[in-house]
Amino acid sequence: MNLSIKTCPLCDGEKLLPAMRCTDFYASGEAFELYRCGDCGFLFTQGVPCSAEIGKYYETPDYISHSDSRKGLVNKIYHLVRAYMLRRKVNLVEREARQQKGRILDIGTGTGYFANAMAQRGWTVEATEKNAAARTFARTHFGLEVKEQNTSPYNTFNIITLWHVMEHIEDLNHTWQQLHEWLAADGLLIVAVPNSRSYDAQKYQAHWAAYDVPRHLWHFTPDTMVRFGSRHHFTCVRRYPMPFDAFYISILSEKYRQHKFPVLRGLCAGIAAWCSAWFRPDRSSSIIYVFKKQA
Ligand SMILES: [Zn+2]
Repeated sequence: MNLSIKTCPLCDGEKLLPAMRCTDFYASGEAFELYRCGDCGFLFTQGVPCSAEIGKYYETPDYISHSDSRKGLVNKIYHLVRAYMLRRKVNLVEREARQQKGRILDIGTGTGYFANAMAQRGWTVEATEKNAAARTFARTHFGLEVKEQNTSPYNTFNIITLWHVMEHIEDLNHTWQQLHEWLAADGLLIVAVPNSRSYDAQKYQAHWAAYDVPRHLWHFTPDTMVRFGSRHHFTCVRRYPMPFDAFYISILSEKYRQHKFPVLRGLCAGIAAWCSAWFRPDRSSSIIYVFKKQA
């Protein structure tokens, strides 16, 4: 069964128009339609398989974010970049929180690298992950008890993080509501998502790897993210560009376009995207948003 979205999750508008046809280059080869709200411009994937059936779209032999292979140059670079990004995330959270320890909830923690890094820094960490294999990995490698979903009481977390998770969540408005309930009154919500108004999204159009249909349901922009926040009584207090994501996304996009020398072309596109984001951070490939609760 496929999900048919009849009203815009951001503005409740009903004027939804086809915008682009994308292919699932990563797993199934199936095509999916992106729709745009005629009232507010929010972009989303129409006809996504329901949660009972989406699992098979995540299963490919090289599902790298849930594996730990260090074979091959691309994997080696991936692990170096991941270590750098991990340090950057930990530093960003501690700088934003203005404290060295507290209670943090990491939603969609995957294999648990970030959650483990925060625990090592002295934070009380709770982490959730839907994928059972990833939960097992987090337990055996880091001794982390990752839950399928959060069961902690309301208003308890100083920080809640979603690193490239929100674009996957089916029940988007319900999730925003829960985030508001779980976060302490003076807590911070930190959300990283791809930017469908980025330099690389505009360059690659339907081949942009971060559309990633049907796994990505929602294709946020700085404007729609800020408006989702205010719909759920959050204020966006800061944004951080993640321009390095453009390299990985551009190389994948070049592969999807089946051009020759995808790595070289992708690296060149990544440099162009990085320069573009330097002058216009809102054109960065991905963006980290920091929200606080409205008084
Ligand atoms: Zn709308």
